[in-house]
Amino acid sequence: MHINKNYQNIEETYLFSEVAERVRKYMEQDPGASLIKMGIGDVTRPICKSAVEALIKATEEMGTAEGFHGYGPEQGYEFLRDAIADYYQREDGIKLFSDEIFVSDGAKSDIGNILDIFDKDNVVAVTDPVYPVYVDTNVMAGREVIKLSATADNGFLPMPYPGLEADIIYLCSPNNPTGAAYDRARLQKWVDYANQHGSVILFDAAYESFVTDPDVPRTIYEIEGARSCAIEFCSFSKTAGFTGLRCGYTIVPGGLVRDGIQLRKMWLRRQSTKFNGVAYPIQRAAAACLKEQGYAELTENIHYYKENAKVIADTFTELKWPYTGGKNSPYIWVKCPKSMKSWAFFDELLSKANVICTPGSGFGACGEGYVRFTSFNTHENTVEAMRRIKDIFGDK
Ligand code: PLP
Repeated sequence: MHINKNYQNIEETYLFSEVAERVRKYMEQDPGASLIKMGIGDVTRPICKSAVEALIKATEEMGTAEGFHGYGPEQGYEFLRDAIADYYQREDGIKLFSDEIFVSDGAKSDIGNILDIFDKDNVVAVTDPVYPVYVDTNVMAGREVIKLSATADNGFLPMPYPGLEADIIYLCSPNNPTGAAYDRARLQKWVDYANQHGSVILFDAAYESFVTDPDVPRTIYEIEGARSCAIEFCSFSKTAGFTGLRCGYTIVPGGLVRDGIQLRKMWLRRQSTKFNGVAYPIQRAAAACLKEQGYAELTENIHYYKENAKVIADTFTELKWPYTGGKNSPYIWVKCPKSMKSWAFFDELLSKANVICTPGSGFGACGEGYVRFTSFNTHENTVEAMRRIKDIFGDK
């Protein structure tokens, strides 16, 4: 018997435990400090009224003989897949077929699980800094991962370059952690690259509902040719506050064929073998979120976070600290002042302003010298945190 030794090659991530440890130590010295967490990666607003009502109604149905639901369809209930297809049609003018939509318990699971359908010998390209799941899931499977630098020089949006040989390409737009988002022209270049090279793009659209800029596509299927090269992952987590309820979906277009096989069919086979679906009440709640009333309610929450993002972005504009994100994203990626390193600035911000951010170096080598702020705290706390930062670091 042998274990999967590739697990020994996964880098330990100490990022959030190290943040917690430094905060704990600081609080020992200064127990009265009123800390504000500006590194929160989870949503904080309650789920919308329509979702709550749908959850209760569906749960009550389950307690009746007529309304009981056992195992559901593997790809998700038709009412939810139809609601997702309507959503793409309504918001983006994109036609999806019901059999291309797979309901999941969140984007993270599918982003990892999709690798089951790809050969080990594919070369994987990710951006640096990166959402660590893309790297770790591939290292676990023994795949080679190449990093594409996301720096101020390329607007934190790496592009294909001559000589790039990548079979599987992860693109996250709007991006976690940088908040940068690909516009149509740039995304078109990636789609063209993938179609020319026979590569597959794994497009993570978890933050699509934060897109404001009309030039920024909310789905890769707005781009010509994407249906023959891209799989899209999406989630109700950040859109509708479902981080604790768990629901997402993956689109595998019928036109995506490699080695003569439709990837949609392979993914269906994989899911029906290893996955037994999402709870009926959760799928009902998710569908309620995409209906007009529910969508209007959850949009209020998105606006709330966007207002916070604006407060943060305006602060850094005023301080003249280079940053990206905040406009199409709940994340703001800021260059540390005085060329400080990420952890050094984290410590300074903690001790001088009692504000907690996330050091950028924890997301990859190119994140060194940056920190990530998020807009998931309350409005009052966000305003107060920014007031402190301006007081301490602004021109006196
Ligand atoms: N993709 C990105 C880029 C994320 O930042 C996150 C969560 O933070 C996820 C996916 C996970 O989403 P889910 O909660 O649907 O698993």
